[in-house]
Amino acid sequence: MHKDLQEILISAAELDAGVKKLGERISRDYAGRCVTLVGVLKGCVLFMSDLAKSISLDTRLDFMMLSSYSGAHSTGVVRILLDLKESIEDYDVLIVEDIVDSGLTMEYMLQNLKTRRPRSLEVCTLLDKPSRRKAQVPIKYSAFTIPDKFVVGYGLDYNGIYRNLPYIGVLKESAIEGKTSCR
Ligand code: 5GP
Repeated sequence: MHKDLQEILISAAELDAGVKKLGERISRDYAGRCVTLVGVLKGCVLFMSDLAKSISLDTRLDFMMLSSYSGAHSTGVVRILLDLKESIEDYDVLIVEDIVDSGLTMEYMLQNLKTRRPRSLEVCTLLDKPSRRKAQVPIKYSAFTIPDKFVVGYGLDYNGIYRNLPYIGVLKESAIEGKTSCR
């Protein structure tokens, strides 16, 4: 376990099994169709790569990057830093997120992508942290529901670090206070 963690919440084996199960469900639900996975960078990267490999259908991959305003400006106002490369009009679209916490980011994604007239639009998140929800977003696929803890690993970062950990862990308080960069 990484020295900055106090516990491993979801092991690599559990992640593997959970993501495979989700991929199989998606493959059954969209049988005979083509799915477009829209990943929200950067947190989605490890999850989306494993999920895509577990889907046995024709699949398109595209990405968006958003900047969210936090702290005093935490109103769910987000800016698009990187937009989709391809059109999603008349496609079956699945938004792929690392975690839904307040739900404000996902609420924005849903509103924004709906205007592009996809054939269907659903949410797929690795982690669901329902305790701090502000916007009630419809989550069709979620692999794990977690308690109100700040987690890192498997795509999730703190100050840009820890995304490459192959498991999901809870940071020590000392790491939150002390660490700002891995330079
Ligand atoms: P929401 O808009 O649902 O509050 O937040 C979504 C974003 O907040 C996620 O994509 C993620 O970047 C960040 N976030 C929320 N909870 C956590 C957490 O426990 N750990 C990390 N690393 N990021 C989180």
